[in-house]
Amino acid sequence: QTKDHFLIPNHYQDCVSTVLISHGMIMDRVQKLAADIRAAYTGKTIHLLCVLKGGSAFFQDLQVCLRNFHQFSKQESIPFTFDFIRAKSYAGTESTGTVKVSGCDLEKLKGKHVLLVEDIVDTGTTMSYLIPLLATYNPASLKVTSLLEKRTPRSCGFKADFVGFSVPDEFVIGYCLDYNDAFRDMQHICVISKTGIEKYKDGVPDS
Ligand code: 5GP
Ligand code: MG
Ligand code: MG
Repeated sequence: QTKDHFLIPNHYQDCVSTVLISHGMIMDRVQKLAADIRAAYTGKTIHLLCVLKGGSAFFQDLQVCLRNFHQFSKQESIPFTFDFIRAKSYAGTESTGTVKVSGCDLEKLKGKHVLLVEDIVDTGTTMSYLIPLLATYNPASLKVTSLLEKRTPRSCGFKADFVGFSVPDEFVIGYCLDYNDAFRDMQHICVISKTGIEKYKDGVPDS
């Protein structure tokens, strides 16, 4: 199918080269991920740690699935708490190799079953930095769920515990994944076009 088979906001029409994963497909996969996560944490309370800003749409849909589990599966929901952490490593479409962390009281992770909720693992630099850092605060356990995992030769070998989809080595946007803060407001996960890269190279205009 082509991108014409999907609703794409007018302001992004020429910025998308292909729709990689439609919103409906994302929702179906998140439901199954929630089921797998629930099964892995039986008898425990999960502490979801959403990695901002890219992981926020996935986090939102995942927590709704976890919360409403008993409604669609006859199985009980399991308890969870959550917090947010900011990790920044990208500038434009390139990984910078350094990671900045902010926005979370890390002392509070002590004794918790922490599940990091990330949008995409690309080179793995962010997670390879974040995990040892968080581990020093003595969580009871520390795992990662990433909606996407990129097939790239630049991978450092890091593997998330629960992965939604494997994607090709392209820069992807939508469902809160951004390019200079653009495209978070698009529901499908798409590959950016050359026009898109050019149009938003200085970010999103205010008018
Ligand atoms: P890594 O450290 O694994 O190379 O990349 C980590 C972060 O870079 C991801 O969590 C994500 O925020 C950003 N990133 C990596 N690849 C992409 C991509 O294809 N599209 C977007 N929008 N962000 C990406
Ligand atoms: Mg991220
Ligand atoms: Mg980003």
